[in-house]
Amino acid sequence: MERIDLLGVRIDKVDMQTALGLIEGYMESGMPHLVVTADASAVVIAQKDEEFRNIVNNADMVTPDSTGIIAASRWYHNPLIEKVSGVDLAVQLAKLGAEKGYSIFLLGAAPGIADEAAEKLKERFPGLSIAGTHHGFFQDDEQIVELIANSGARMLFVAMGIPKQEKWIAKHLDRLGVNVAMGVGGTLDVLSGRVKRAPEWMRKHGLEWAHRLACNPRKISKVATLPKFLWLVLLDKVFKRS
Ligand code: UDP
Repeated sequence: MERIDLLGVRIDKVDMQTALGLIEGYMESGMPHLVVTADASAVVIAQKDEEFRNIVNNADMVTPDSTGIIAASRWYHNPLIEKVSGVDLAVQLAKLGAEKGYSIFLLGAAPGIADEAAEKLKERFPGLSIAGTHHGFFQDDEQIVELIANSGARMLFVAMGIPKQEKWIAKHLDRLGVNVAMGVGGTLDVLSGRVKRAPEWMRKHGLEWAHRLACNPRKISKVATLPKFLWLVLLDKVFKRS
């Protein structure tokens, strides 16, 4: 798989179709796989968090999950194909799960949200099996690992925010019994219907951050990583590469 290096962070040149094809292969392999959907905040966090950077760089797949990342890849004249976001990939995997009989465990978000997301997914994709759900504010890792391992889930979506979700998956992946585990950030909040996604035109023009901020001003620290990301890319281009 072709990939790019963005400030020391690996991002794969995948589009949605390729990502889905690869994940189907992971499902059939019977082995556990980690999929990361990396946005600009992930790249910024990875600059200082070596553990997180190593997890991303050694994941089975790292999809580009933000318009900022796609734009940066163009500035380096090594363009990524398209944005493959956590929420879009999760929905496509739910569809695949319903078609192929892969059950999914939803872990993360505030109490009740994962159940609501599960109901919405089952309505949308009849036949989908949700192996279990649990909120993301737990203390006892072991209890949750057992819950997932005993649920028979083949896929796991973990919605606890970057980098917590990726670190949690990497630590426990071998014991979860799933073939694919993926960090999905705020996806369960969106799938439950509690948080509205930015309208299509805003997403298309890379303005998802403005919608996020308008809906929840407390998201300022997350949104602030975008200018930081662009600044780091600019510095990198000016001082290192050109
Ligand atoms: N969350 C969680 N456990 C935690 C911290 C956060 O389950 O210990 C959830 C939170 O309720 C929210 C999601 O993780 O549903 C984080 O969403 P966000 O959009 O901030 O994720 P990111 O932007 O990092 O992908």
